[in-house]
Amino acid sequence: MWPFAEPLAGIRACPEQREGAGSALHSGFRFLAGYLADVERWLLPPACLLCREPIPEREDDALICGLCRVRWRPVPHPVCERCGQPTLRDLECRLCQAWPAGLARVRSAVWLDRSARDAVHRLKYEGWSRAAEAMAEAMRALEPLTPGVSLIPVPLGARRLRVRGYNQSERIAAALGAGTGLPVRTDLLRRVRETPTQTALTPEARHANVAGAFRAGAVTGLRLVLVDDVFTTGATLAAAGAALMVAGAARVEAVTFARAVVELPLAAESLESRV
Ligand SMILES: [Zn+2]
Ligand SMILES: [Zn+2]
Repeated sequence: MWPFAEPLAGIRACPEQREGAGSALHSGFRFLAGYLADVERWLLPPACLLCREPIPEREDDALICGLCRVRWRPVPHPVCERCGQPTLRDLECRLCQAWPAGLARVRSAVWLDRSARDAVHRLKYEGWSRAAEAMAEAMRALEPLTPGVSLIPVPLGARRLRVRGYNQSERIAAALGAGTGLPVRTDLLRRVRETPTQTALTPEARHANVAGAFRAGAVTGLRLVLVDDVFTTGATLAAAGAALMVAGAARVEAVTFARAVVELPLAAESLESRV
C-alpha cells in the first residue's frame, strides 16, 4: 500500500483552493505543489489508482494502468447525431428533444460504469488531478475535436470552486489541450448562478434549473467545444451551449469523458425480449 498517498493528495489540493483569490501565497503554493508532485512520483510505489496493482515500468508515471483503461467500455455507435446517445434502430432519440437550441453535438468516450466512475471520483473528490491525463487520452478521438476549435471547460460556480479547490473539467481540458494541441479558453464562459445539485431532478426540471446559469464573453465567430467529466442528461452542457451561441459563437459542441447509463439498457432489454 502507499502510506503517503492520502496526505500528499490533501496537501496538493491546498494551493488550488486559493485559485482566483489572488493571494501572495499563490505562487508559493504552486511551487510547493509542483515540488510535491515530483516527490510523490518518487515516493509512491507505482500502483494503479483504480485497481491498486503495480504499474509496469514501461507505462512510466501513469496513475491509471493500461489494463484499467482498456476495461473502460467505449460508447457504441450508432449514436444520436446531436446528443451522442446510442440509438436503437430507427427509434427517435428522446434524450435531447427538450434541449434548447444551440449545442450542436455531444460525444462521450466511455460508459460511466464502476471503473470510469472511480476515475472521476479520484479526480473530483480526492485531489488526483493527474487522473485527468488518462481520461483525456480516452477522449482524444472524439469527433468534435477537430483542428480550429477551442476547448472550454464547463465552469463551476465560485462557491463550489472554493469548496472543491479546483475545477475537474479544467483539468481534463488542460490534458486534452496538451495532447491535441487545441487551445483551452477559461476566459470565455462564467457560471453566474449557483445551481442546486441536479441528481434528484427530472430531465425537465434540470433544464429549468440551469437555464440562465452561464454568461459568455467575446466568442463571436469561434468554434467551441465544451469539456466536462460526465454526461448525464446534457442539461448543463445544453445551457452552456445556448449561452455561447447567443453570444455569437459560430458553433458549439461538447465532449465528456464518461456517459451515465440512461434508458438504453432498459429499452434494449424490452426490445430484445420482444424479438
Ligand atoms: Zn489498474
Ligand atoms: Zn439525442
